[in-house]
Formats: sequence, structure tokens, C-alpha cells
Amino acid sequence: MVDMAINKGKLYIVATPIGNMADITLRALETLKSVDFVLSEDTRVGKKLLDQYKINKPMISYHHHSEAKKMREIESLLDNGKNIALITDAGTPGISDPGNLLIEQLIKNDKEVIVAPIPGPCALISALSISGFPTDKFIFLGFPPHKNKRQKFFKEVANAEQTVVIYESGHRILKCLGELKEFLKPDKKIVICRELTKMFETIYRGKIDEIMNNMKDERGEFVIIIN
Ligand code: SAM
Repeated sequence: MVDMAINKGKLYIVATPIGNMADITLRALETLKSVDFVLSEDTRVGKKLLDQYKINKPMISYHHHSEAKKMREIESLLDNGKNIALITDAGTPGISDPGNLLIEQLIKNDKEVIVAPIPGPCALISALSISGFPTDKFIFLGFPPHKNKRQKFFKEVANAEQTVVIYESGHRILKCLGELKEFLKPDKKIVICRELTKMFETIYRGKIDEIMNNMKDERGEFVIIIN
């Protein structure tokens, strides 16, 4: 049993930058250089990163809509001893992006598969680290659902006793804050981190009304933290 696992390839879950291309660990670069294939959520984004570090590897796309055939291809590569790195468009694969599904499936089909984390940037952890809010306990709720259950989601955020972290994109940030405001006690403290590690990084701190009045530019990627 163990021998079989040794002959198999390994799947490395490699964290990549959330904006600033220099935010990548030495181990992540070594891993990307050493593997046989790189699985990438968007191969254009993946290629840009690999080009920056002069890494030339065959890439395979893997995203939310990847089908069973792609899964079999990945399994067969691992069965044949090929080492694979999974990267997604930003940060740590599997955190609100494809990755978990791949690992879940692989483990379901073969309990011996070796999946190794190569830790690094993650938007929610970066945001929490500068929030100044209690982080000994926190709840991460990911993206608000697009259609149904939005009210339930915002109620859960508003009623949480711990620090709550959510993700949102620029297209929906104002809608999201507007809906959150309906349920949130007006004196709750909020930190909004926009475009972390990028040129237009902006941190808003205050009550929801103050932030909505001050928010000048809603383009980009956002992490919202409520306490
Ligand atoms: N796997 C990623 C991670 O480790 O954080 C998250 C991927 S999720 C598809 C993308 C969301 O993460 C964005 O919509 C935004 O909410 C958040 N995000 C990613 N990069 C960010 C950044 N530089 N600044 C603020 N939020 C960011």
C-alpha cells in the first residue's frame, strides 16, 4: 500500500500572490520549478506568473467547470508518477476558488493520494492581519450568494458574535454594503480592504455609513471584516 503511494505523483497546492508578484515563497517557486505539470484556474494568469519567474512548464487548465474527463486525466498523471502543482488566480487554492473540489474527488477515488500544501498569501488572512479586530476566533463566510439566501447570509453576518470576514468583488461591493446595512447595528465596526498588495490598496475603517460615504472607488477586489 505504502509503496504504491511512493510511486505515485504528488499534488502540491501552491499559494501564489494576491496582487504583488513578489509575494511568493521560495518553496512555491522551487515546487513550480520541480513539478511535471501545473494545473491553473486560468492558464493566462498562471503563465504570467510562471513567465515572471522564468519557469517553463506544461499547463493544464482546471476550473469550476472542469469535467470528469479532466479529473481522469489528472488522476492518470498522478498514477503514472507525475508531480503536479495546483495554482489558482490569486492566493491559496481551495479558499473560495476551485481546488477543494479537485482534492475531494481525488481522495474519494483514491485515499492514498498525497496532497501537500505550499502555504503563502491568502486575502482573508492578510486582511485580518491588519484589521486590529480579535482574531483568536473568527468566522469566514466567503462570498454572499448571488441569488437566493442573501438575506439569511447578511443576517448571519450581522448577528455573529465573532469577527466575520467576507469576500466581494468590485461589481457588487455597493450592493453588498447596502444589503448588509439593513441588518447591521449601526455602531458595528468595519474594515474594508480593497486591492491588498496592489497599487491602489485602500483600507477603510469605520461604521458602515461612514465607509459608504467615503468610498470613492469601488473597482477591484474587496475583503470586508465586521466586528
Ligand atoms: N484563493 C483566494 C485567497 O486565498 O484569498 C481567494 C479567491 S476568491 C475567487 C477572490 C476574492 O478574494 C476576491 O473577490 C476578493 O474578495 C478576495 N481577494 C483576492 N485578492 C484580493 C486582494 N488583493 N485584495 C482584496 N481582496 C482580494
